[in-house]
Amino acid sequence: MPTLLRRLAIWLGALALAVAAALTGPTAAQAAAPAWPLLSNGSTGANVTTAQYLLRHRGYSLTVDGQYGAGTTSVVKSFQSANGLSADGQIGPQTWGKLVVTLSAGANNDAVRGLQTSLNKYGYGLAVDGDWGPATTNAVNNFKSARGLSGGSVDATTWQYLTGGSGGGTGNYRLIIGKSVLPRSEYDDPHHDYPAIDLPTVTGTTTYAITSGTIGHVGGNCGLGIGITGDDGAYYLYCHLNSRSVAAGSRVSAGQVLGYTGATGNVTGPHLHLEVRVNGANRCPQNMLLAIYDGVTPPAPSALPATGCTY
Ligand SMILES: [Zn+2]
Repeated sequence: MPTLLRRLAIWLGALALAVAAALTGPTAAQAAAPAWPLLSNGSTGANVTTAQYLLRHRGYSLTVDGQYGAGTTSVVKSFQSANGLSADGQIGPQTWGKLVVTLSAGANNDAVRGLQTSLNKYGYGLAVDGDWGPATTNAVNNFKSARGLSGGSVDATTWQYLTGGSGGGTGNYRLIIGKSVLPRSEYDDPHHDYPAIDLPTVTGTTTYAITSGTIGHVGGNCGLGIGITGDDGAYYLYCHLNSRSVAAGSRVSAGQVLGYTGATGNVTGPHLHLEVRVNGANRCPQNMLLAIYDGVTPPAPSALPATGCTY
């Protein structure tokens, strides 16, 4: 549970959020691969491990530890310089595009270790041994068919889905930040004044689409905000991002990277604000987020309470 002080700070910052921000009208929906994740000094997790394996596959010497520190930054700069890229030491779309390799069954190398690491984000439980045998084939085929991707090889588009998705969750719902970012106890916290939730996240935390839908950009007190008009009929509002990775009017799938949290708009400190609305009225998102965290089927948005999650 947050301290009263933190609640007060968030409340002061978000004071007029309820009157925030017109949603820009969604235009024609278009299917899109998830955005490549942006990795930089301080990033951690499976995507970092995958990138480190891919760098090793490219002939660079570095420790594979899932920690993006000075060593990885230095190697990335060398890789970028050698590939005609701006050497900023970050792995964004252009660097990913040069880093990934097309893989097929039978491959045995560090890039396969990266592939196995990425697949394990989605619960496949593969041994990370670099050997593309039958278990890896099954996982690749399952992962691709679930996303409408054809063919049995792992190409750049497949890598984009693998690294751009969050992994966890259940059904068509995913956690809005990585499971390791905050403990479960943060997801039952009440919100000031009206149904919503504030998750205390440092600037730059990756945020993901809670479910599939169509993107709108929101501004005003919400800062750099994103609204998802969900395929489930609900509307999901994310506020105070540091940057957005998806265009207004585009389609997203559950777990797709939306952007990175921050402190834009009416805030006093960085956090991620989430609202769930059904027919324009706010519902309490806590039970939905807790279910997703636990990996069980979440309640329908219309079954979420409209009171009882405020202070
Ligand atoms: Zn809030």
